[in-house]
Amino acid sequence: MENKKNIHPIQNTPQEPLTDEVVLKFLKVLESARAEEMSCSDLYIRLDEFVEREVNSKDAEKIMPLVQEHLDLCAGCCDEYEALLAVLENTKE
Ligand SMILES: [Zn+2]
Repeated sequence: MENKKNIHPIQNTPQEPLTDEVVLKFLKVLESARAEEMSCSDLYIRLDEFVEREVNSKDAEKIMPLVQEHLDLCAGCCDEYEALLAVLENTKE
C-alpha cells in the first residue's frame, strides 16, 4: 500500500514562530482578566505586603501589578492603601 500522495514534505509546512510579542500579548490579556476578577477582599489580603514593599524597596508596582491595577480602579481600596502607607511611613522613622 502506497500513501505517498498524502505525505507532504515537512519543508512545505510554514513555521509560525511564537514570538515574544505574541506571548506577552497573551499574558497581558490573562493578567487584565484576573485584575477584573480581583475582589476588594482579595486585594486586602495582599495590601500589607504591597505597602511594605512600596515603603522599603519601591518596587511594589512591578512585583504586584494586579494590586496596583485594582488600586487605580477602586477608590475605596485606594483610600485604604493610602492610610496604611501613611501609617507605615510614619512608623519607619
Ligand atoms: Zn477594591
